[in-house]
Amino acid sequence: MTIPGLMMQQPLLISSLLVHAERHHAEQEIVSRRVEGDIHRETFRELAARSRRLANALAALGVKQGDRVATIAWNGYRHMELYYAVSGSGAVLHTLNPRLHPDQVVYIADHAEDSVLFFDLTFLPLVEAFASRVKTIKKFVVMTDRAHMPKESKVPGLLCYEELIDAASDAYVWPSFDENAASSLCYTSGTTGHPKGVLYSHRSTILHTYAVALPDTLNCSARDAILPVVPMFHVNAWGLPYAACMVGAKLVFPGPALDGKSLHELLESEKVTVSAGVPTVWQGLLAYMDASKLKFSTMRRTVIGGSACPPAMIRAFKEAYNVDVLHAWGMTETSPLGTACAFKPKHLGQSQEEHYAVMAKQGRGLYGIDMKIVGEDGAELPWGGEKSGELLVRGPWVVNRYFKDEGGNPLLTDADGHGWFPTGDVARIDTDGYMQITDRSKDVIKSGGEWIGSIDLENIAMAHPAVAMAACIAAHHPKWDERPLLVVVKKPGAEVTRDELIAFFDGKIAKWWTPDDVVFVDAIQLGATGKMLKNRLRDQFKDYKLPTA
Ligand code: ADP
Repeated sequence: MTIPGLMMQQPLLISSLLVHAERHHAEQEIVSRRVEGDIHRETFRELAARSRRLANALAALGVKQGDRVATIAWNGYRHMELYYAVSGSGAVLHTLNPRLHPDQVVYIADHAEDSVLFFDLTFLPLVEAFASRVKTIKKFVVMTDRAHMPKESKVPGLLCYEELIDAASDAYVWPSFDENAASSLCYTSGTTGHPKGVLYSHRSTILHTYAVALPDTLNCSARDAILPVVPMFHVNAWGLPYAACMVGAKLVFPGPALDGKSLHELLESEKVTVSAGVPTVWQGLLAYMDASKLKFSTMRRTVIGGSACPPAMIRAFKEAYNVDVLHAWGMTETSPLGTACAFKPKHLGQSQEEHYAVMAKQGRGLYGIDMKIVGEDGAELPWGGEKSGELLVRGPWVVNRYFKDEGGNPLLTDADGHGWFPTGDVARIDTDGYMQITDRSKDVIKSGGEWIGSIDLENIAMAHPAVAMAACIAAHHPKWDERPLLVVVKKPGAEVTRDELIAFFDGKIAKWWTPDDVVFVDAIQLGATGKMLKNRLRDQFKDYKLPTA
């Protein structure tokens, strides 16, 4: 029989990160490019004081523990204050994605039963488009000062964020409660079916934050200046707003200005050392830097995830800018970080080319995340094999049930009675434990019953100098059922033919994986989190007649 340990019982609460940051890193800065246009600076001391005022203001607005408080906001200090004030007081922060259609926002806000909405000025038109239709949001707060408040609006009774803060006292003691209490809520993108809510807890968030900050994960320290390009409305900016307080790192928030020029300016002026974002945002930055012949003076690392980072991008960052890419994988259901790709000692003496091959993988499971791949019969596949299988994960920051039990029990139970979350991703795991995503199960191309990994094909196409964006989708084939069709957006001014692109695959991949055809399009639509909407492409090309058919 075990005996109880005799250590303090202190719940793992998000407010403790803020208390720590104020006490140990009071002078550390949060720098934000504001929607109003200027650069704003505040210290962690000010962040803590303003968050306490905001917690009092929330109480004055009638927000109670467990209530959902929604935001539609860019990355900025006011959003950060909401992260801490809402969760810290025991309410639930619900970050809404402004890139969603107003109808989807209404569905999600109603489903979450949000009571108050805080939003950046930029999003007034969006809020006006749905405000009269949401059932539960009774108060709308514009995240600005009196001088910038809209003179008139279709939304009656707009409140002003800075007035709420000014009117509130900064005397507030963060309440203590069960660490398993809900802290924040994010909805999955719902590319199939309705979006589902993932309800994080204080405990899951703190454990995830420890894992995020570790050296082989995002390696955050008090000497770093971190610029999360990944939005705070996309899975809590991958945990960076929490990790920065845990380690005392400077935070630099780009606000609405996510173009290459604005990002480069801020990375340089604030001496940013680490950044994080999805591949599509880096394309804009790299294209701008290439055209303007710019370099980075302080940035040495960037975290790329959310979709597969093309090896050509990893190479461009290293060779042209001396920036190491850290490839990471995760999803809303995993808080989000599940794997990160850092080297093992055996890699250290290897060539740069061998390093690139490792860096293209999504990486090793973090401590806390257990993962395995299974075949179509559900049996576990060995690590180090050629075969890909569906990736299953479990751990203390992996979803157990969706909010309001939407969709029922998502888990698969193994013979030992452990529940595993099926990620919908198809992956291989090598003998060293490095996981590589080959596809999403719904994107996989099934040619004559065999899987072709669309990500491998896209990665090769992306290495062609004329290709700006590439998506590989299944097109109908009378004999093979499905064959790969490559959809390409060319770089401005660049030329390449279909035959040249097809020839580009020679020797890089098994012959039968080569796309049967290439179509050129002006643009590939991106979803709300910056990923290519392959389901739209599949619809668009559903009647496409392959030349091989
Ligand atoms: P959605 O894309 O549905 O909004 P998430 O933002 O939670 O949901 O995205 C999770 C999915 O993104 C993963 O299941 C996986 O398919 C994809 N993904 C995330 N990181 C990577 C990566 N590094 N490489 C390939 N795919 C990735």
